Amino acid sequence: MKLTLTPEEQQFRDELRTFFTTEMPIQLRDKVRAGVELSRDEMVAAHRILNDGGLASPNWSVEFGGKDWTPLQFHIWLDELHRASSPMPNTFNTTLVGPLLIEFGSPEQQEKFIPPTANLDIWWAQGFSEPEAGSDLAAVKMRAVRDGSDYVLNGQKTWTSEAHLADWIFCLVRTDPNAPKRQQGISFILVDMKTPGITVRPIELIDGYHEVNEVFFDNVRVPAENLVGEENKGWDYAKFLLGNERGAARSVRPLRMDIEKAKRAAASTLLGGRPLLEDPHFAARIADLECRIDALDITLLRVVGESSNGKPSSASSVLKLLDSELQQEVTELLLDVSGRDADPIYADGGLRTEVWTQHAARRYFNMRKKSIYGGSSEVQRTIVASSILGL
Ligand SMILES: Cc1cc2nc3c(=O)[nH]c(=O)nc-3n(C[C@H](O)[C@H](O)[C@H](O)COP(=O)(O)OP(=O)(O)OC[C@H]3O[C@@H](n4cnc5c(N)ncnc54)[C@H](O)[C@@H]3O)c2cc1C
Repeated sequence: MKLTLTPEEQQFRDELRTFFTTEMPIQLRDKVRAGVELSRDEMVAAHRILNDGGLASPNWSVEFGGKDWTPLQFHIWLDELHRASSPMPNTFNTTLVGPLLIEFGSPEQQEKFIPPTANLDIWWAQGFSEPEAGSDLAAVKMRAVRDGSDYVLNGQKTWTSEAHLADWIFCLVRTDPNAPKRQQGISFILVDMKTPGITVRPIELIDGYHEVNEVFFDNVRVPAENLVGEENKGWDYAKFLLGNERGAARSVRPLRMDIEKAKRAAASTLLGGRPLLEDPHFAARIADLECRIDALDITLLRVVGESSNGKPSSASSVLKLLDSELQQEVTELLLDVSGRDADPIYADGGLRTEVWTQHAARRYFNMRKKSIYGGSSEVQRTIVASSILGL
């Protein structure tokens, strides 16, 4: 396994580093570094800067504006994005629906949707989960019934991230309730959020912010041309998309940056007259996290080195699981180090020089989601046991 960069790779890295630190406005990067929410306009502006530089969707095929990069180059791209604290490109567009339309969309759909998806002129939401269909996604019930040149949609989606910001939503719908296997009666359809009959209702999360929604469909008429691929073959497309979601390249850079923040704060926090950083229990906690982050980093590099032709590696479940656990533990550490400054009631009071402390509680609560969405930790453990360990 090679762990150092060649001169060419270093040059590649330096070019990206220059782009992210000069083209992306410092105001946006400061907000990301401090864990402050960006507005929709700010996220769109950041995405378009990346897209203008050809750096929003490098994972797409070259024909559609992507890059013919090696897995290591993708790894460097993501690492440098994080290192610069750049906002990330919109993942629903670039990792989920974009590659799906490139692989399975009709030429008309590609022509209509790919350019605005690349530039975030269309903001997509993911309409997969339903109240009784989360981990067991094949249980989706939302109906789509063909009526002339339309499908008529009735049912409910839930936990739909950013549906209140989205222009379009891609949905799994049941087109054949009598199929011999549940997976065989599902289709994949694209829906304009402005279509009459759609209601978006916010779900307030434990961090107090509005991120996820319930979406209700009441006799929503969708042109049949919005069906992706073949009717009742939607499960195949969903599996492709979920593979990309789970296998999405991960980076340990944000974890390392958070540990550095915690160490800086702990060095200036006194506990019994001594810096917290010197407390043996605290130091052991940091050391434990750093060792596990190193282990994740090496595993990630191994997976990057072993993956080929852009296909998600079977180890992606290990990465998803460990990454979720570490993200949660590191945000807990930041919360502890921030002490009472982390309580939002003190926010903007200038209690600490670093803004991130005042967002530490919100981040801690928000990160609880990590072990649920994109496949819960319990489900990942089952995949690791059966597919990797052969148990
Ligand atoms: C913040 C957030 C954002 C989300 N965004 C979206 C989105 O944009 N679009 C979308 O479609 N969905 C989204 N989701 C939904 C997410 O994918 C589901 O919540 C997830 O798949 C889990 O499903 P569930 O909530 O129905 O829980 P359930 O499947 O009911 O699971 C409940 C518990 O049982 C466990 N469990 C279930 N099955 C098994 C099993 N076979 N073996 C062992 N344990 C099991 C689970 O791990 C979990 O602990 C989001 C969720 C969250 C929390």
